[in-house]
This record gives sequence, structure tokens and C-alpha cells, in this order.
Amino acid sequence: MAKPVIAIVGRPNVGKSTIFNRIVGERISIVEDVSGVTRDRIYSQGEWLGKEFNIIDTGGIDIGDEPFLEQIKQQAEIAIDEADVIIFITSGREGATDADENVAKILYRTHKPVLLAVNKVDNPEMRNDIFDFYSLGLGDPYPISGSHGLGIGDLLDAAISHFPTEEEEEYDESVIKFSFIGRPNVGKSSLVNAILGEERVIVSDVAGTTRDAIDTKFESADGTEFVMIDTAGMRKRGKVYESTEKYSVLRALRAIERSDVVLCVLDAEEGIREQDKKVAGFAHEAGKGVIIVVNKWDTLEKDNSTMKKFEEDIRESFAYLSYAPIVYVSAKTKQRLHTLPEVIERVSMSQNLRIQSAVLNDVIMDAVAMNPTPTDKGKRLKIYYATQVAVKPPTFVIFVNEPEMLHFSYSRFLENRIRDAFTFEGTPIRIIARQRK
Ligand code: GDP
Ligand code: GDP
Repeated sequence: MAKPVIAIVGRPNVGKSTIFNRIVGERISIVEDVSGVTRDRIYSQGEWLGKEFNIIDTGGIDIGDEPFLEQIKQQAEIAIDEADVIIFITSGREGATDADENVAKILYRTHKPVLLAVNKVDNPEMRNDIFDFYSLGLGDPYPISGSHGLGIGDLLDAAISHFPTEEEEEYDESVIKFSFIGRPNVGKSSLVNAILGEERVIVSDVAGTTRDAIDTKFESADGTEFVMIDTAGMRKRGKVYESTEKYSVLRALRAIERSDVVLCVLDAEEGIREQDKKVAGFAHEAGKGVIIVVNKWDTLEKDNSTMKKFEEDIRESFAYLSYAPIVYVSAKTKQRLHTLPEVIERVSMSQNLRIQSAVLNDVIMDAVAMNPTPTDKGKRLKIYYATQVAVKPPTFVIFVNEPEMLHFSYSRFLENRIRDAFTFEGTPIRIIARQRK
């Protein structure tokens, strides 16, 4: 089930990014510190009253050289396309402006819920200023203060009350859902078409029940069922903003949410770009299976070291994806395309692998014997017991005396030991320290 999406819209300087940061809270900094993932400040996850959601600050989407009004118009349209709930932010300091009215007019056209927030209402006396905003015709305004953190809770209460009710999972558990993600022009559509050409047993084109995605279901020779998730709005092309890089990132995020295994496509001809890292980072954080697909392999003059050299570049640029298999393919010549379903299947198995506690604890105890746990101020981290609590991604809880003493480096060491002992190909694994009660 894909998480609901909240989009923030509004003209510049009303406080969109301040509110975005409030809502996503510490998440951004935690992730940045730990995984070294390149982070985009326009898209993140949030949680309110146990409901998880994705949130987009459309103000951060760079539309290019368009005039100001055209930019906010396009941002509002992206919100309408992408969001389940739209939060329209204005500023109580300036009152309702012409630019606000412009945004409001675009938002009238959607049937999606729109919440009107009046920001910079920093103290109770200013609450009278919000009446002005009824003129925007979007219902009761919510007074908030991004910088003081006031009123955000009420706004989120309202936002989650508009979330779509949970849908049935669209496919059987046994069906492997995957998608191709990557920058425009790396060859995603070509790969989709080439694979469907190879795998002749296409079961059906299914209109996904969520939003307007179109998925393709097929069976491999050995009878494994796959669903290819439509990425990059391949069937919805043509709008001006679709060619912007940031927007293609948003589309990729949608596909990642719905996939079990994400195939990050790189262009052998062009090499690795900054945006490649960003999107792959999201797949890693979302705990999805990841495969790196180097496409257009036909374009390179190759010698004995070409593949090794490319692999080194990838391992360096995507340090956090050390577990991801790399496949070198060509959508044009179909080179090695037939191996993809097999690799996807292997990664999916790793995602679903469960390790018995007894075996796991042997591995952990051997690891501790080899490399003693860290100490701090005369106190030593004690590991009592480990157990796997989840799959997709495999998640391990380690019961210890002092959870904060399980630092990143030691946790990474344990992860590597677990990876050496079991086959977790292509999947992130998570390690959580808990205090033994
Ligand atoms: P954006 O362009 O809409 O993303 O706006 P920003 O979040 O960058 O904020 C624009 C300016 O408004 C910054 O100087 C913020 O510090 C300020 N600001 C944001 N929220 C509040 C608020 O609740 N009260 C006041 N007084 N200033 C705020
Ligand atoms: P998308 O934007 O990622 O979906 O990329 P497309 O599938 O539209 O491909 C972009 C361009 O790269 C097109 O001109 C394709 O013909 C070309 N292309 C795609 N795959 C290959 C490949 O394996 N080799 C070569 N030489 N060209 C390719």
C-alpha cells in the first residue's frame, strides 16, 4: 500500500520550507548523518498519530526560467497531480495577495481536499488577521506558525482525516513488483519494451487501482509472476513540467513506494550523475530491494577492464548500496536482458529471508568474540540477544544494556557479519538496538 501524499503549495516566502521541516522533523538529519544518502529537501516522509505519509514541498521544485506566476501555477498543478491532500500556505503578515488568489484559482479545479493554512500567526492576538483569507474561497483557514510550531497539529489532524481509506493490496503476496527508475533518457521505456518482448507470457495490462498507474503483469519461464510498475508517468507524457529533473524524481518515488525491487538504471554512455545517486538513495531508505542496471552497454568500446572500472565507479558513488548486484545490459541489443527476471527473483528472496534466532545469535556472538563491543566511560556495550522481527527489509532487533552505545560503526560491523553468514543479496538490512527490560 503506497503511503498517502501531502503536497505543500503557496507563493515564495510564506514559510513552506519552514513548515515542511517542522513536519518531517528530525528525520532528515538522522538519515543524512547515518547513510550518507544525498538528500532532497523537497520530499520526505512524515508521521502523525501513527499515520505515515509522504510530503512534498512543491516550492522546491525548480521549474526553470518560467516567469514567477507561471512557476507557482505549475507547482500547484504538480500538487494536484501528485497529492492526496493539498496544504495551501499563505502568510498572515501580508494578508491575501494576488499571487495567493492565483494559486487558489488553480486549486478550485481539483476535487482533492485543500487545506488553507495562514502562516506567521505567531501569537493569539494575530488570530483576527485570518478572517481576510475567507475571501480565497477555500473554507476555514488554519492559523499556524511555522517558526513557533503553533497550530501544526490541528492542520495535520485535518490532513490525515482526508487520507484515502486503505485499499486492498492489489496483488498476491507471491507476485514480485518491480520498477525501473532513473533520470530521463537512461533508457527506462526501452528496457520495459525490450523485457516485455523477451518475456512472451504477458498475462495482462492491469490498470492499477491506486491512482492512474498502469502495470504490466507477466510470468517468467519458470512460472514466477512479476508485475512491472509503470514509472516516470511513461503514459502521461507531454506536460511542460514533466521534463524537469525534480519532477521526474517525484514520479520515481511513487514507483519506489509500490515496488518490492527497484532497478536503478544508469546510462553507460553518460556515466554516473548526481541525480542517479539521489533516486537510488530513496530506494535504499525505503528498504526496497535494489539492483543497479547499467544500460546502453553496447555504446562502449570495451576492453578487459571496462566492467571492473565501471563497477569501481559505482561502488564509490553508491557506497551505501554495496549489497546491490550490478547488471550490464543493452535494451538495444538485448544483451543480458534475459538475466534480469532471475536477479529480481533472487533479490526478492533475500528481502523475504527469515533467519532463525538460534543461528542468528551464533553469528552475533562469534562477531562479538572477534571484535569486542565498544566501551564508553568505563562502561561496555553488552549484547544479550538478537532476533529478526521483520522482512522486506530484513530487520533485526538486538537487545542490549545501553542502546545508544550501539554506534553506527559497530552496527555496520554486525551488519557485515550477518551479510557474510547469510545471503542478503540486493536488500538493505536494518539493525535496531533495544534496551533489555
Ligand atoms: P518558502 O519560500 O515558502 O519556503 O518560505 P520559507 O520557509 O523559506 O520562509 C520564508 C521566511 O519566513 C523565512 O525568513 C522564515 O524564517 C519566515 N517564517 C517562516 N515561518 C514563519 C512564522 O511562522 N512566523 C514568522 N514570523 N516568520 C516565519
Ligand atoms: P527513458 O526516458 O529513460 O524512458 O529513456 P528511453 O527509453 O526513452 O531512451 C532514451 C534514448 O536512449 C532513446 O533514444 C533510446 O533509443 C536510447 N536507448 C535506450 N536504451 C539503449 C541502449 O541500450 N543502447 C543504445 N545505444 N541506446 C539506447
